[in-house]
Amino acid sequence: MHSFEDEWQESEPANVQPTPRTNYSARVYHASTSRGNRGHNNETNWRSRGDASGGDHQRNRDTRRGQAGWEGNKKIINVVSNNVGRIIGKGGSKIRDLQFESQAKIKIGDSSGAETAITLIGTDEAISKVEDMIKELLEDRRGPVKETLNNSDNTSEFFKQNDSGVQVIDWDKLNAFYDEQQQSRWQNLPPIIKNFYKEDPTVTNMTPAEVTRWRLANNDIQVKRTFDDKPDLSPIPNPVVTFEQAFKQYPEILDEIYKQGFQNPSPIQSQAWPVLLKGEDLIGIAQTGTGKTLAFLLPALIHIEGQTIPKDKRKGPTVLIMAPTRELAIQIDREVSKYTYKAIRSVCLYGGGDRREQIKALSKGVDIVIATPGRLNDLVVTGYLNVINFSYIVLDEADRMLDMGFEPQIKKSLYDVRPDRQTVMTSATWPPGVRRLAQSYMKDPIQVNVGSLDLAAVHTVTQKIMFVEEDDKEAALIEFLINMDENDKVIIFCGKKATATHITTELCLKGIECQSLHGDRDQIDREEALAEMVDGTVNILVATDVASRGIDIKNLTHVINLDFPRHIEEYVHRVGRTGRAGKTGIALSFISRNDWGHARELIKILEEANQEIPDELELMAKRFEAMKLRRDQEGGGGRGRGGRGGRGRRDRW
Ligand code: AMP
Repeated sequence: MHSFEDEWQESEPANVQPTPRTNYSARVYHASTSRGNRGHNNETNWRSRGDASGGDHQRNRDTRRGQAGWEGNKKIINVVSNNVGRIIGKGGSKIRDLQFESQAKIKIGDSSGAETAITLIGTDEAISKVEDMIKELLEDRRGPVKETLNNSDNTSEFFKQNDSGVQVIDWDKLNAFYDEQQQSRWQNLPPIIKNFYKEDPTVTNMTPAEVTRWRLANNDIQVKRTFDDKPDLSPIPNPVVTFEQAFKQYPEILDEIYKQGFQNPSPIQSQAWPVLLKGEDLIGIAQTGTGKTLAFLLPALIHIEGQTIPKDKRKGPTVLIMAPTRELAIQIDREVSKYTYKAIRSVCLYGGGDRREQIKALSKGVDIVIATPGRLNDLVVTGYLNVINFSYIVLDEADRMLDMGFEPQIKKSLYDVRPDRQTVMTSATWPPGVRRLAQSYMKDPIQVNVGSLDLAAVHTVTQKIMFVEEDDKEAALIEFLINMDENDKVIIFCGKKATATHITTELCLKGIECQSLHGDRDQIDREEALAEMVDGTVNILVATDVASRGIDIKNLTHVINLDFPRHIEEYVHRVGRTGRAGKTGIALSFISRNDWGHARELIKILEEANQEIPDELELMAKRFEAMKLRRDQEGGGGRGRGGRGGRGRRDRW
């Protein structure tokens, strides 16, 4: 397989990293700069030589990076053959992850003998990254895959000869072996203790009519089994009305709640605590601001402490909380750290945060992991996080995680988690994707819907509309900000990152202090922006929809929609940033003629929340509907300009 080496220039030995002989040895090559199109040619050469890992090669074509794009230098490392299976992973999952994370190509070579040659291709940086990842993978023996495949005496049993007599990986055998090992690992674990609930007699004695009345009066809570209500399932527990009814057996938990000064459980807490303390799976259709974090957190603390093996003797953390964004993960972490119970420790893992620090915290031992899907998957794949003991899992804001395309990472991270765990999911909406997720990962979940989906939050907000020309928005905004009260706290939503940057600059030039939060800012700056809003250093935050969901800024008085959002759901999320925790708030939306397509949906929301509906908005909606009707009658297909041929006519509102 090394006959293509003449196309590469071998570097000086000084470039070779000293590596432990027991793990692997290495050689480095640099791509010849005199040759054009090198990555592509190199790939062709491999294929034409019928490389030993043909099966793997084909599989790697599926990765997100095209084969022709692999360019750069090459380094060959020799790995103890027994370890090759750990680098490949089940169905090639690990090798794909390593390639994706590092942006280097990994080529498994000849497997004969005690060592296997592995070629790493890419930029110096990519090679160095993938080499580090492989080293970590082989050094760390705690991860489940390592435990599993390393127990095999000889990984060469997972290779077979294909029809052309070339040695290839026997995926069926490798996968079957993996499944078998995984089953036996789970079987060897102690059973999970899930039921910690002793129902208070007052709660037991509530009549069905009392329960119905209570649910109606508390945000019209709806509770049901999400899927089939099988006869052998236990009945849905009554809600608790006081903290004591839920946690009488746990006085230290009660003390922590009292320290926060809360008066009563929030509706979702009242209904979720009995369900979760009984060990049932739960789906909470609820927004941030409803007290959902505490709803799943307090039962989690009791769950950690209540297992048979003491927490410091367990192999890995017990509770996993997955959140879609760094901001939300950090916010949950902040919430978690407010509660002290039996020295339970947590760590927050998110992309953009210091990976080494996160690994250090994990290695010291933690009980709760709060993580975004990407970084979680990274640390699971590289073996830093052992998922074997996760027995209580939370997928927070599942709809958002799916919207952001995290489904593959969620799947991969949960793959090794024992299936008899308790699973909690929260979501602001209930689209088919979330339903599918619940079907795949949950067991007979009980669903608690708080209010009529997202609309609950907007009931406490006065929603105002200001009709402006597009060009006048900025002046109207500045006039509003100049006249705002010194105690007002405002978030300004912009449709684009560039607009947010522009507005921030304009405000600064006018001496109006503000912060900004959008995707182009570094993580550290985003955290600082939020922190300054929270602690009151600034009172104005200019943001994109990065901040529309899940962000909890205390005492936010105004939400300003400088640009109306593209989707009406986002409007509801934005407005829900204010009017929280019993407070009222004001949302002011600048509406220009460009927004006429949203008018009808906006009217529905305003009606639902008993808000005033301006005549102009009604007129706008009617004009839009008339325009649509006209188009349909004219032949329907005229979408956008030029749709009906000719130069296209601009519809007038
Ligand atoms: P969450 O919906 O989890 O983001 O919670 C929003 C805010 O409500 C957090 O700041 C919590 O500390 C607070 N909170 C949680 N439970 C209660 C409660 N029972 N009463 C009042 N505030 C609460």
